[in-house]
Amino acid sequence: MNYNRSFNFSAGPAMMPEKVLEEIRDEMMNYRGSGMCVMEMSHRSKVYQQIIDDAEADLRALMGIPENYKVIFVQGGGTLQFAMVAQNLLKDGVGCYVETGSWSKKAISEAKKYGEVKVVASSKDKNFNYIPDCSDLDIPENADYVYICENETINGTTFNKLPNTKGKILISDQSSMFLSRPCNVADYGLIWAGVQKNVGPSGMAVVIIREDLIREDLDSKVPTYCSYKTHVDGGSMYNTPNTWSIYCCGKVFKYLKDEIGGLEVMLKKNIEKADVLYNFLETSKVFNAPVAKEDRSLMNVTFTTGSEELDAEFVKEAKAAGMDNLKGHKSVGGLRASIYNAMPIEGVEALVAFMKEFEAKHA
Ligand SMILES: *Cc1c(COP(=O)(O)O)cnc(C)c1O
Repeated sequence: MNYNRSFNFSAGPAMMPEKVLEEIRDEMMNYRGSGMCVMEMSHRSKVYQQIIDDAEADLRALMGIPENYKVIFVQGGGTLQFAMVAQNLLKDGVGCYVETGSWSKKAISEAKKYGEVKVVASSKDKNFNYIPDCSDLDIPENADYVYICENETINGTTFNKLPNTKGKILISDQSSMFLSRPCNVADYGLIWAGVQKNVGPSGMAVVIIREDLIREDLDSKVPTYCSYKTHVDGGSMYNTPNTWSIYCCGKVFKYLKDEIGGLEVMLKKNIEKADVLYNFLETSKVFNAPVAKEDRSLMNVTFTTGSEELDAEFVKEAKAAGMDNLKGHKSVGGLRASIYNAMPIEGVEALVAFMKEFEAKHA
């Protein structure tokens, strides 16, 4: 059906699969005979318990999450996790951070409030346009963890190889690449993702945490809500959860599993999509992509004409042509196309066709 929707290249909240939106619409007024909308439903009801149980089960199946990892849904979006990671896992040792851009910088400054932090690698010297070599990091003996932002949404870089953590646990912010490709959960101590980039409605994070890292002995000043144990013990319902986001995310998990056919297939599609755009950018005379080829994100493609005025003109003309939200993040400028799981290849092809036209006019 044609809803006259834009190709929405927003970095988040971002596109959701049309099929999922249609399903949500169809269940809006009366969810499966319950007599009410999911938004109106008690989170303590049997119907809702089934929704959250299914969401977790589908995510576990999709990612192959091992038994000894807990899955929780926590409010506070991505940002609360910067603090929660440090409050829960930074003990008397050192939190080691790889600094690759805006979101890892935020994680670093938040962690400093709670303990000792060491930046073990950085790509600051080149405007965060690459991922530093993490094969032989100087990780202190008393390190509590090594932390990465696995895909820097604003800068458009991604880790294609995980750091050598020298036996310390790895913590990863996967917000803007969550479920974009297969993930070996056992390589991590904790994975978290704000869901509004690649899954569903904003205001919530999915946290996957290895059981033995859940602590009982937190500083008594840590808010009850900020303890992972609170959420694990409460089955993500210590207080009223973001019921709507969990419901919508659950639909996306099921869609990826049953309709797409899993994360291997999703990765293949994502590579095909990104190739369309990067291949064009490599030959373009007007647009250029600043990120090192081997570190380019499949999800957030950054580029620029090199001129602020021309970038602004591009954003405006693209919007008029049905392609929205192509402006780069305000902290770095330029242009950015976020092409998450839900962006169809037709959207990327339309964008490249439009860029070619724009180039012909302005070369
Ligand atoms: C968007 C984003 C965040 C922050 O998410 P909020 O829900 O807005 O707090 C954190 N990390 C990454 C990588 C992101 O893309």
